[in-house]
Amino acid sequence: MKLVTFIYEEKMAVGLLVSNSVIDIAASAARVGALVDLSSMLSVIRGGQEALSVIREIANQPQLFPATTYQLKQVTLVAPIPVPARNIFCVGRNYLDHVKEGFEAQQVEVKLPEVPQFFTKATHSINSPAGEIAINERVTHWLDYEVELAVIIGKAGRDISKEKALEHVFGYTVANDVTARDLQKRHEQWFKGKSLDGSLPMGPCIVIRDAVPDVKTLELSCHVNGERRQLGQVAQMIFDIPTIIASLSAGMTLDVGDIICTGTPAGVGFAMKPPQKLKSGDVVTAAISGIGELRNTIAIK
Ligand code: MG
Repeated sequence: MKLVTFIYEEKMAVGLLVSNSVIDIAASAARVGALVDLSSMLSVIRGGQEALSVIREIANQPQLFPATTYQLKQVTLVAPIPVPARNIFCVGRNYLDHVKEGFEAQQVEVKLPEVPQFFTKATHSINSPAGEIAINERVTHWLDYEVELAVIIGKAGRDISKEKALEHVFGYTVANDVTARDLQKRHEQWFKGKSLDGSLPMGPCIVIRDAVPDVKTLELSCHVNGERRQLGQVAQMIFDIPTIIASLSAGMTLDVGDIICTGTPAGVGFAMKPPQKLKSGDVVTAAISGIGELRNTIAIK
């Protein structure tokens, strides 16, 4: 099942994506007398199996809900979790070829991480799947893209074992960890350069975990103005999803609705020869097979 957060006539709701239609699940559930709170993606995730079983019932008979079904083109999709409860967790340097290209671009010796490298992005970095990435030119002169698989936590926990890690996953979505390379370098710390407003397009949907039989087979790609820049497979991660969850949750509670971006494959602009910067008007397309595509325009103002 694919879940979206959408706006229709200025009202935000959670929808079930069925080909080119979006079914408002809270409005549909109300019509059949379901009592579970489905008013936001976070409430759906917190609703656990009870919420998912109501959504499954709707998914099994979508034709019963014409009054609460919209054409995709009638609605505006926003990020599946438009306002996360706290910062978005991210993993740096998690694909071998990307680690190599990064160190080589800096002309220093390649050093593989021994443990996952974590940082966060501020909550206002969240952007819509087709949102404009609007950046003030006084703030940065060097924007770059990073397509990533984002994991949505569905069950809170601390000290989660690798063996149980996937039980804590609600689902998966696409993220573009847009980065201001000059700020990243100048501040000698990743947080600021990763946290500009609108620098984390996410979506277009969350695919729930049991609809993804083997997450390792998913393929990530990123294009700029139609030119392919990145191509990779989740299987190429240095630290796989169970390892990331086990490491991050060691002594640190993960909450329902937490988002973890899991790193980007090779092909980022700063490592190209010569290095490439995103320009105003560039269209960046970040996609993952089986989930969907983000399509964002850069607007430097
Ligand atoms: Mg990244």
